[in-house]
Amino acid sequence: MNERNISFTALSHQWNDEREELLPILEKVFASGKFVGGEYINVLEKKLADLCGTKFCLLLNSGTDALVCSLIGAGVKAGDEVITPPNSFIASTAAIAHIGATPKFIDVLPDQNMDPAKLKSAITDKTSAIMPVHLTGRVCRMDEILKISVDYSIPIVEDAAQAIGSKYQGKCAGAWGLIAAFSTHPLKNFNACGDGGFVTTNNEGIYKKIKSMRNHGMENRNLVKSFGYVSRMDNLQAAILDFRLDKLSWIIKKRRENVQLYHSLLKSEFVRLETEKDYEYNTYHTFVVHCERRDELQKYLEKKGINTAIHYPIPIHKQLAYTEKFGPSREKYENCERQSEKILSLPIHQYLTENDIKFICNEVLLFYHGKKST
Ligand SMILES: *Cc1c(COP(=O)(O)O)cnc(C)c1O
Repeated sequence: MNERNISFTALSHQWNDEREELLPILEKVFASGKFVGGEYINVLEKKLADLCGTKFCLLLNSGTDALVCSLIGAGVKAGDEVITPPNSFIASTAAIAHIGATPKFIDVLPDQNMDPAKLKSAITDKTSAIMPVHLTGRVCRMDEILKISVDYSIPIVEDAAQAIGSKYQGKCAGAWGLIAAFSTHPLKNFNACGDGGFVTTNNEGIYKKIKSMRNHGMENRNLVKSFGYVSRMDNLQAAILDFRLDKLSWIIKKRRENVQLYHSLLKSEFVRLETEKDYEYNTYHTFVVHCERRDELQKYLEKKGINTAIHYPIPIHKQLAYTEKFGPSREKYENCERQSEKILSLPIHQYLTENDIKFICNEVLLFYHGKKST
């Protein structure tokens, strides 16, 4: 009776859609023999810096390495503290821990992003960076965060992994901080066919530092001033991303239209949708609703062939990796913890049809009210 299968991700749709155009591009890279370094790297870096409104961009091998390089680039050292929210993907905090710094969590707003009002009291003389995370593709309240950053001379390292193209007061994610980290993981809006990421910055010194850091610390073939990493993006991924960059505005437009449709159809006292403020421009890496009886709803939808996800069910301060290293959290992060029990990410990808979304909304309303939407 019910043959639907609405997937959460769109990778097979994307492949069918792009196959014909993408294969010749891959062939060209294979034939060139340029896999590490190569023509697409510089081209794409220039385009991404333009898109984000920064002077520099550096392509890297993952969003996580982009975060690590960003923190090091911003001068964060072992023993320092970095202020960040506890409701991100684990990599935000992992990057802080990897360089020997300590994450200092602060709670989030109802929209899941860092609460700037909690920032000042978390600053100590060890604080060397503030790392806001633009969760779901919604930029944090960067005007307020930036003011505190300036007042206390503490740099901002943006985790913009989910927020390419997102804006706040007309300014792009990636252009607010001293430096910003993005991911091009296959499940992000702007996605490679493997791991990838990049950083954006206006600071030439940091740009040069990370350019050498991603390539063994080499200044040139023979000169190494400090030990680096292997964090470069492959030319093949850069070629795929260069092709896909032309589709990004369409992807964002589709996702935003999907959200509008959800807003018009999904009216229930049991489901809260976060509205977009007029100074925001959200790109909806995920579309999160806050709902009652979340786990039951998720199971119900799964039975109806609707894949959903939870970003993220366990706050980072409750993850074993965190408590093993830093001890059990003494603080409670009430919004974060409450949200972790209510949030559900509904399918939002650019290949959903209007009927898919109508079907999803109907099923949610049937679950709560036993009736269809109108
Ligand atoms: C995806 C993601 C990362 C990590 O990116 P990778 O490319 O998977 O390493 C970091 N932070 C956030 C918020 C993310 O969503």
